[in-house]
Amino acid sequence: AAKDAGKNQVQMYRPELAVERDRRTRLVADLRRALVNEEFAVYYQPVVELSTGRVRAVEALVRWIPPGQLPVAPGEFIPVAEECGLISPLGTWVLRRALRDIRDWYERYGISVTVNVSGRQLREPGIVDLILGELAGQGLPGKSLVVEITETVLVAETASEEAVVRALLERLRQHGVAVAVDDFGTGYSSLAYLRTLPVDVLKIDRVFVQEAAGGSDSAALLRAIVEMAKSLRLRTVAEAVETPAQATRLRQLHCPLAQGYHFSRPIPAEELSALLASDGGRIEVEPTVAA
Ligand code: C2E
Ligand code: MG
Ligand code: MG
Ligand code: MG
Repeated sequence: AAKDAGKNQVQMYRPELAVERDRRTRLVADLRRALVNEEFAVYYQPVVELSTGRVRAVEALVRWIPPGQLPVAPGEFIPVAEECGLISPLGTWVLRRALRDIRDWYERYGISVTVNVSGRQLREPGIVDLILGELAGQGLPGKSLVVEITETVLVAETASEEAVVRALLERLRQHGVAVAVDDFGTGYSSLAYLRTLPVDVLKIDRVFVQEAAGGSDSAALLRAIVEMAKSLRLRTVAEAVETPAQATRLRQLHCPLAQGYHFSRPIPAEELSALLASDGGRIEVEPTVAA
């Protein structure tokens, strides 16, 4: 603050900072109200098996829908919720809703749900018991749930903090819950390091996927990631597949799973139910070539 900066220093007047601060304050208040009034919804994006087009899993993605307004993307409010301590109650709400929704899809189609868990929520005391309790409450086995964390949650840690995260992920896995690492390739962890961690699923970041069809270095990297992940017995999911060419390329590389706008955007639960009910939950991987 200007006061702390010392008497002899010149402070720049920066109105944009005040505006930004006000916006934040309002956003925090709005988020608190939104939690109380349950203004959130969970959308689901299919994760498709590339060899068959079958929907094998769905990723739960939270949306904030203030009354009478358009849905707000999580990029806008998740970072704020993390800072102001609202991420844990919000995360618990998403988990509960996602498990409630997956029950029918799990029983009918064997589909699991992937839920994003922020680093802060993962460090909340009792998080494993909370997750296992929610599963039990729905009568669901651990394997119906995948906990998705980002690379940085695992890596940017002191050794003792890392040991804590490792232990709780291991406990989840003992109960059949799978662990997915998101945005792989953007952080600093190597696959060799990843192999030592309690992880089952590798989600390849969009930067590698979106250049998949080109002949660039990224395409070579993509191939290396898919092959190494396979040799480490990690399931790989390619994120943000947007074009038929990308889907084709990923299939050629034997990447097992993919999600992205090319297959489906994240959709409300009712729409997903309809999608799964039609054609046995199959989505066209590559457009059929017109004869
Ligand atoms: P994420 O975990 O990497 O989720 C994938 C994001 O990519 C989603 O954005 C999804 O809508 C978007 N996406 C899917 N297919 C495509 C595609 O083909 N092209 C492009 N460009 N994007 C695609 P969304 O829903 O806006 O979520 C953004 C991020 O917010 C998520 O990234 C995740 O980190 C976070 N998030 C979402 N829901 C939750 C939640 O319930 N809890 C927590 N802690 N974080 C969440
Ligand atoms: Mg994620
Ligand atoms: Mg994701
Ligand atoms: Mg991602």
